Amino acid sequence: MRKLATVRTVSSIKAIEGADRIELAVVDGWKCVIKKGEFRPGDHVIYCEIDSFLPIRNEFEFLRKSSYRTMGEREGFRLRTVRLRGQISQGLLLSTGILNREAVIGEDVTAELGIVKYEPPIPACLNGNIVGPFPSFITKTDEERVQNLTDCYDTWKDRQFYVSEKLDGTSFTAFSHEDFGVCGRNWQIAEDERNSHWQIVRECQLKERLESIGRPLAVQGELIGPGIQKNRYNLKSLRLFVFNIFDISSYSYLPKQEMEDLCRELQLECVPFVEVRSVPDTIDEIMQLAEGASRLNASTEREGLVWVHGDGQERISFKTISNRFLTRHDD
Ligand code: ATP
Ligand code: MN
Repeated sequence: MRKLATVRTVSSIKAIEGADRIELAVVDGWKCVIKKGEFRPGDHVIYCEIDSFLPIRNEFEFLRKSSYRTMGEREGFRLRTVRLRGQISQGLLLSTGILNREAVIGEDVTAELGIVKYEPPIPACLNGNIVGPFPSFITKTDEERVQNLTDCYDTWKDRQFYVSEKLDGTSFTAFSHEDFGVCGRNWQIAEDERNSHWQIVRECQLKERLESIGRPLAVQGELIGPGIQKNRYNLKSLRLFVFNIFDISSYSYLPKQEMEDLCRELQLECVPFVEVRSVPDTIDEIMQLAEGASRLNASTEREGLVWVHGDGQERISFKTISNRFLTRHDD
């Protein structure tokens, strides 16, 4: 579960040019516009990340105009990336006073505040019957945002990272391990005529091809195309782009070179490769690198990048979501 609301420290406050009622609070790698004087450097606060869906509550009523949303039957306020006076603002700072108790740095208060993750409605083609939870012998495809990794960022300076484009579709995992199975982000999905995950499996003959390799592997990628996430790449049909191959016997990812070779053998495409490089000095710079045109379709802004160093135990990976993408397309 994503820790959407956590207790953190304000690291600095910056003025916003031309604004006299608002200023910018920096919390780890996040920047959030606040009312002037509301918080000071060193203050302990609750930071609510973008995608938080806050319950209806008096303290949150000021969000109604900008953020009221429904999610199924539920009403609430959805936090998204906004631009105020040219300044990107992400998330919300709350006083720890709202807890009515002592707050501890690092604490996850998501559930206590009744916050859940905002999830858009699921399109019909991604609906499917659930076989069970995501298998425990494979790791999920989640990636952490670099803004939450400021503590370790400086220790990565001399490492090389494999950078690929983050595609905006839906998570796909297929595994061959005793059985063959197909999963979305959190569940294993039952075979179904209409389900997009199974449709691509049939189109790519993935079951046969994966089984022919003769070792327990999981192929993980992003499924994109008509009906999925607005299909911003304007694809005519479904396509699968692999970003990981997981070796189930050793419970580790294959090195990127091996992944690319195996994809060739399986006749699968990999996510667009961007470059191999080290991380820039600052989070601001790495966030800037996330912005740019998609390599799949140059007329659309890319969602961001995913950075991966190493494979087995040493593996480091994270995502950088383009703020330009978030302010234009995240609705
Ligand atoms: P949350 O918003 O809570 O983090 P999410 O599923 O929307 O959840 P994403 O922001 O989409 O998470 O980031 C992680 C997902 O990115 C992975 O689950 C994977 O499906 C997808 N993804 C797309 N392109 C890539 C890529 N090049 N490398 C790795 N993952 C990728
Ligand atoms: Mn996603």
